[in-house]
Amino acid sequence: MIPCPHYIAGEWRSLAGGTPIFNPSTGDIIAECPAGGAADVNAAVEAAAAAFPAWRDTPVVERARVMFRYRQLVEESFDRLCACVSREHGKTLAEARGSLFRGVENIEYACGAPTLLMGDTLENLARGVDCETVLQPLGVCAGITPFNFPAMVPLWMFPLALVCGNTFVLKPSEKVPLTAVMLVELLEKAGLPKGVLNLVHGGRECVDALLTHPKVRAISFVGSTPVARHIWETGTRHGKRVQANGGAKNYIVVMPDADVAKTVESLSAAAFGCAGERCMAGSTAIAVGAAAERLLPSLVEAARAIRVGPTDRPTQPDMGPVITAPHRDRVLSLVASGEKEGARVIADGRGVRVPEAPGGFYVGATIVDGVQPGMTIAREEVFGPVLNVMRMDDLDAAIEIANASAYGNGAAIFTNSGKAAREFKHRVKAGMVGINVGVPATMAMFPFTGWDESFFGDLHIQGREAVQFYTQQKVISTRWFGEGVGDVWKK
Ligand code: NAD
Repeated sequence: MIPCPHYIAGEWRSLAGGTPIFNPSTGDIIAECPAGGAADVNAAVEAAAAAFPAWRDTPVVERARVMFRYRQLVEESFDRLCACVSREHGKTLAEARGSLFRGVENIEYACGAPTLLMGDTLENLARGVDCETVLQPLGVCAGITPFNFPAMVPLWMFPLALVCGNTFVLKPSEKVPLTAVMLVELLEKAGLPKGVLNLVHGGRECVDALLTHPKVRAISFVGSTPVARHIWETGTRHGKRVQANGGAKNYIVVMPDADVAKTVESLSAAAFGCAGERCMAGSTAIAVGAAAERLLPSLVEAARAIRVGPTDRPTQPDMGPVITAPHRDRVLSLVASGEKEGARVIADGRGVRVPEAPGGFYVGATIVDGVQPGMTIAREEVFGPVLNVMRMDDLDAAIEIANASAYGNGAAIFTNSGKAAREFKHRVKAGMVGINVGVPATMAMFPFTGWDESFFGDLHIQGREAVQFYTQQKVISTRWFGEGVGDVWKK
């Protein structure tokens, strides 16, 4: 079994037992995640609170230097980290690399802290009065992360929170905590002082202890919508800043004039990449007018050509497994519900066989055509390699469908018409919009701007908004009285 210790006050604490961590490619149990509770959380928060005064007063260039070293260490361990992501999550190595790059970009962004934390000044605001803003850290911040990006999502949070001068408690998903252990080990190696970053493992008990702990000032959360809502409601009720990213149902509108080959390639990647386990997955294609007839034959062909298999060995498949057996069963039952409610499965990945890894949690690429707005599969986030297809007569109807969603994470349009693209980007109700880009997920320098049920809070993760989230502003007005001093200088 691979060890999965807590890291509290600079000490690794191993515990026996816990929830099983699977290798989804094989179905084997590879480790156990400790079920941390209120006492572990309290120890971690107290360690972070104790480390805060010295870390806050560490010059910002020194804090940034730790991140420069960290970036180097992550790069040196890149393959090892990707192998860990693949083993505990099931991403292909190429997907693991892509997602880790996105995470590394967040470390690089954090290295810019000396510039990011600069305030404003205005001289002579009133006669002899100058004014300045400074950005100061909050104190202890916490991060609670989902299973689907074991490296990237934690890296969205703690590098920036730390360079801003905060201390941090990370609670990774109990399904994929091993990558988080490696990420913390590397930061320890980069020279981060003890207690500045702490790692606790567990589930709801752990989360609720963080949400109610009086010394936690801010919570960053990424996960499903019901939990995001709970985090936001409970955290804000306990006086904390909260940014909580939730689930999604992202629409991709395909206009009749779209480039078929390029659209098929992007749609297929958006729907089936990472086995559909992405909050920015393109889960519903809305084909406008003649687009369906032009698109579907090649789309079905592309889906059927996707080779599914284990990701933990040298020969890599196109697509790996989903995270657990119950999750696979949920995906399959949602496809069955679509069929029952009148939709047609035109590429069927339900019976996929992987003889070299019969215990793995596999679903093949699936396309469900003729999906109607009220159907269960149209409403629920499937979070698997399943693409819904809806057909609409015109762009207005397509936008109306997309805008009726409770979520508001991403939306995309494929077209060669500037007019249609302009109309779409202006009217669509989503925080991240792609024009001929299937997965318009933002990178480190831009905020990850989910709307509606995809986000609870005010300041988003990543970019300048995240700097604001992890700091509080102080405005200082200064006036000096200098009777006599001027005379001294004159002499
Ligand atoms: P999840 O909500 O089940 O779990 C996320 C975290 O919350 C985990 O650390 C888990 O331990 C904790 N948790 C789970 N249930 C809890 C409860 N009842 N009370 C308190 N804490 C609880 O999400 P998941 O299944 O790990 O991840 C998939 C979800 O995350 C999808 O809905 C996906 O869309 C979403 N997601 C969103 C974004 C985004 O940026 N919007 C990014 C990635 C994933």
